[in-house]
Amino acid sequence: MKILFLVFKDNEKLEFYQLAPLYLEAYCRNKIDMSWDIEIIDIELPKIYEQYDLIALSNCFFDYNEFKNLCLYLKNYCKLLVGGGPMMKFFDEKLLKNNVINGICYGPGEKPFLELLKSLKINKEEAIKFMENHQSWKTPKTINKEIIFSELSEEELNDIPYLNFYLYKQKVMMTTLLLQEGCNGCCTFCTVSQIHTKTKTKTLDTIKKELDFYANSFSKYFYLVDDDPFTDWSFYKPILEYMVEKKYKIMIQNLQWNSLFEEQIMLLKKIYVDSSINLNPDAGCERVYKEIVHKRGDFKKIKKVISLLKQYKFTVVIKILIGYPGETKEEIDSYENLRQEWDYDNIYIDQVLPFKDTELRKICDDNNYFYEDMDKNIYEVNTPEWNNNWLKNKIDYLMKRLN
Ligand code: SF4
Repeated sequence: MKILFLVFKDNEKLEFYQLAPLYLEAYCRNKIDMSWDIEIIDIELPKIYEQYDLIALSNCFFDYNEFKNLCLYLKNYCKLLVGGGPMMKFFDEKLLKNNVINGICYGPGEKPFLELLKSLKINKEEAIKFMENHQSWKTPKTINKEIIFSELSEEELNDIPYLNFYLYKQKVMMTTLLLQEGCNGCCTFCTVSQIHTKTKTKTLDTIKKELDFYANSFSKYFYLVDDDPFTDWSFYKPILEYMVEKKYKIMIQNLQWNSLFEEQIMLLKKIYVDSSINLNPDAGCERVYKEIVHKRGDFKKIKKVISLLKQYKFTVVIKILIGYPGETKEEIDSYENLRQEWDYDNIYIDQVLPFKDTELRKICDDNNYFYEDMDKNIYEVNTPEWNNNWLKNKIDYLMKRLN
């Protein structure tokens, strides 16, 4: 059985290796006989897609028409197309209704993917039937009535075989290592907490073995991935100490700033290759952070963390989201002064978008705030307080003013 996984050109540099296809392959590896390719898609080049029994697409981009046309093109060669990834939440119904794609997986895909492969092992008709019966594969928290497959348990996450980064057919400069998956938080806009029931953490023993394996097989440079920013520092400390001892390096890191101590910064400093560190408070002011985003932790702490990082000569990159329904014009205007508030080096400001099944989407749907026209690639939030155009212009202005 030959499976092709496509990832998009945006990720061509593959600074970040997409973990989804690697996890799917690792989970299914010893359970079913298959051969597996990953390609970075470039439809300009002739490809021999016929040889594959199934093509899976990880969708991280936002143009419905581009995605639809790509699927229709691929369907000329391979009749079985399955999609996953965050943007599917916007396109799902339309893609399925128009028979552009056979199946969509929301959230963790390992278990449904294995079932799909088992049906494909019988024959293609079985696989098509499987897809028709389970057109959208949902995770527990997403849709209560239609639980089809459970997510991986903590034990299963620890038991997954090592990922094969060579599938990307590129020199592996840096290995992405997942430390934990999911989040115990419930931020209004966040899909992580919607698709995982809670934070699942790998054991220190698993993490150490993975670090050793990937350092020996691929690269001793790492990007450590974790979802829950409220994980205690005691979890990170032995990992960082082990990396210092083994002379492993960290190349990129999103800093879980809520649990940050000076001791952690000193350890990071020893193993950090670059000097740039990302902090994501996700909101521009304390009221929005607490009352609208419903984020745990202390918003005020970000200021202290930035100055601590600067003391240790890190370059600090901040990311905030704006455009939450309920966020006032005055609050958004006040972000013009963030430079005085925070001593960052760079700031990215994005519009928050209401992904399906999130609290934010519910607010938008209940109040008719969200307008989408996928064919025209339009996704807008308009509230009585401000409209989408005003917000977009504001974001452009803030990006210029604050950087
Ligand atoms: S803390 Fe982060 S990962 Fe957790 S729910 Fe909030 S935004 Fe999502």
